[in-house]
Amino acid sequence: MTDTFDVAVVGRGIVGLAHAIAAARSGLRVVVIDRMARATGASIRNFGFVTVTGQERQEMWPLAKRARDIWADVAAHAEIKIVQTGLVMCARRPAAAAVLEDFMATEMGEGCELLTHAQLAARHGEVPYQHCAAALVSPHELRIEAREAMGAVARWMQYELGVHFTDPASVIGCEPCRVITSAGTIKAETIFVCPGDDLNALYPDVMAAHGVTRCKLQMLRLAAPAFRLPSPVMSDLGLMRYEGYSALPGADALAAQLHSEQADAVAAGVHLIAVQSADGSLVVGDSHDYGDSPDPFLHEKIDAGILEEFEAVLGQAPPTIERWMGVYASSSQQNWFTKEVDPGVHLTVVTCGAGMSTAFAIGERVVGAALNRNVMKVA
Ligand SMILES: Cc1cc2nc3c(=O)[nH]c(=O)nc-3n(C[C@H](O)[C@H](O)[C@H](O)COP(=O)(O)OP(=O)(O)OC[C@H]3O[C@@H](n4cnc5c(N)ncnc54)[C@H](O)[C@@H]3O)c2cc1C
Repeated sequence: MTDTFDVAVVGRGIVGLAHAIAAARSGLRVVVIDRMARATGASIRNFGFVTVTGQERQEMWPLAKRARDIWADVAAHAEIKIVQTGLVMCARRPAAAAVLEDFMATEMGEGCELLTHAQLAARHGEVPYQHCAAALVSPHELRIEAREAMGAVARWMQYELGVHFTDPASVIGCEPCRVITSAGTIKAETIFVCPGDDLNALYPDVMAAHGVTRCKLQMLRLAAPAFRLPSPVMSDLGLMRYEGYSALPGADALAAQLHSEQADAVAAGVHLIAVQSADGSLVVGDSHDYGDSPDPFLHEKIDAGILEEFEAVLGQAPPTIERWMGVYASSSQQNWFTKEVDPGVHLTVVTCGAGMSTAFAIGERVVGAALNRNVMKVA
């Protein structure tokens, strides 16, 4: 296989697709290469929750707002259903409600409301919210069914944007203007490498310099309950995991209380996100286990911790009908990075659990900057 393109993208996860869309929409001839015939990694294992509220304030929050708008546009073009909108963040404890009050006092609170339990119950009457001290209701989010949407986005890219997806091939290395794969060499003026949590195959030194490791998460699908959730639901433990909340003044007091009252959940990185699919079933998670080689096993105790938090917020959990794990690239040094690793070869990795929420904006930014600068021509 030898072919010539303006842009080659390694990786058909959401980060790779984001770069490919930005390049194709600039009128360029784009090829996407992946070792799999369809996305099977983090990008189909997630909640499909495009989260704005709670993202880190300086950089990720604006990126998420832009990415949400691109998602809405892509969803309309690719005929992807927006399954849910918004967010209900239930503060079970007064200390959590205090964090939400802090949040509402920032610019990030714009468009959000802080409700009492009675107001929340009146608004979403059929949802059996257990007692909460307060609830933040955000209108900013949207949710797609990731396992269906990733294929729909790729098909739209192929048939409407003219993006070429190669047969499955492993990328062994990249040089300026050349992608060397297990099936031959592909020539492209500019190359974007978006390998997700594949830390060791391509640019392991750059990955190491950015402190990239892996994060393993456990996920559950529950049978359809009797109610419909208008919006995804989160709770106190999530206020510690999302920097847009955890950096606020009241967060330390909440963290101390959670460490004391829910020590096992905190140790396992358990928090609650509950979203609902078109068929009524619920996707519920998750947990966070960090390390380069996470074990591949699903631990019942962790699932029990997730379900315990679900029941504290939404009452009796329906039966579990599916379980899976997912892994994403993670780093404590930055939420994402891009680096020109060779002339015209750019490595981009989202190193936090917010790739579905930010990749479209990151791809747009990285591709725009790279294509303005890169003057390499295919030899
Ligand atoms: C359980 C779970 C829940 C999550 N929930 C959310 C959420 O609700 N909202 C949110 O914003 N984010 C969420 N995330 C995070 C989000 O899913 C990730 O940040 C994002 O999917 C990462 O996308 P990616 O393209 O970098 O990686 P991936 O989707 O893993 O794609 C990487 C691709 O690169 C390919 N590849 C790598 N190396 C090579 C090579 N050498 N040759 C060929 N192909 C290669 C792989 O085959 C793979 O297809 C969640 C993650 C998980 C695991």
